[in-house]
Amino acid sequence: MEQNSDGSLSQVQHVVLVLSGKGGVGKSTITTELALALRHAGKKVGILDVDLCGPSIPRMLSMGRPDVHQCDSGWVPVYTDAQKSLALMSIGFLLEDPDEAVVWRGPKKTALIGQFVSDVAWGELDVLLVDTPPGTSDEHLAVLENLKKHRVDGAILVTTPQAVSTGDVRREITFCKKTGVRILGIIENMSGFVCPHCSECSNIFSKGGGEDVSLQPQGSVPLDPLLSASIEEGKDFLQSFPDSATFSAIS
Ligand code: ADP
Repeated sequence: MEQNSDGSLSQVQHVVLVLSGKGGVGKSTITTELALALRHAGKKVGILDVDLCGPSIPRMLSMGRPDVHQCDSGWVPVYTDAQKSLALMSIGFLLEDPDEAVVWRGPKKTALIGQFVSDVAWGELDVLLVDTPPGTSDEHLAVLENLKKHRVDGAILVTTPQAVSTGDVRREITFCKKTGVRILGIIENMSGFVCPHCSECSNIFSKGGGEDVSLQPQGSVPLDPLLSASIEEGKDFLQSFPDSATFSAIS
């Protein structure tokens, strides 16, 4: 497999962006679960959290606020496990107080993203997932600008079934087309509700919002209280609930 040419991503096989048109549709949840699913499949994975104003990856993986160390080739990512199979970098690790609001203008955000892309010593990774802020903003352009030297494999778009969210996904599709980023697929999240008592899945929202847009969704993940509890508690859902319908949807 062709490797990226140089820098901190030189040993990263695949770079995949995770995008959503608006906040709260479960983009960071899907990023986290994708990373865990890939790790369970024996892959080495990284998550670069560039959602500077709302970094939630550290909390979702129960990482608290560890110190970020420097090495000769840059910042050492934070690992979730001793085997170093899941590497993370997030502004959440750099803030004194995790509840601190990041009120920065574009250039400062762009500069930090530049550092995140060029100065993190990821080492060997099969996949680096980039969790982006909602919408198409300075942060997205900064990520793409800084990844120019490297190969971005494409983007996964996360949406919910409601039309308002899928309308936003159309804008994400346009953004990908304009910036030449391949769309790897659409994931429809919160697609139906899994009853915690009988495990039956009911469609609360109009279903198939992802099917409205020009691409078919590649997968759908139901609204599952066990998943949201796992995310809140920073637990590995896939490890805790291997028999659930949501497990098969994610893995
Ligand atoms: P975003 O990154 O798009 O802003 P998040 O991933 O932070 O959204 O998710 C918002 C909230 O919705 C979180 O509390 C998360 O636990 C919950 N959530 C996301 N997807 C699901 C799901 N499929 N089932 C249950 N809760 C979910």
